[in-house]
Amino acid sequence: MGGFKFCVHTQLDFGGKTKIRWRCSKFRNCKATVHTLDGDIIKTHLYHNH
Ligand SMILES: [Zn+2]
Repeated sequence: MGGFKFCVHTQLDFGGKTKIRWRCSKFRNCKATVHTLDGDIIKTHLYHNH
């Protein structure tokens, strides 16, 4: 993912599937996030502020 590492921010059950919101692991205040649903990327917001 563009060389950036992401870590699990929130994980929730979404109609039997696992929805995970990942956030940038490099900077705590970074607003970049990736959303996956059962391992598939459904949404990306890759505007790193660093
Ligand atoms: Zn970042």
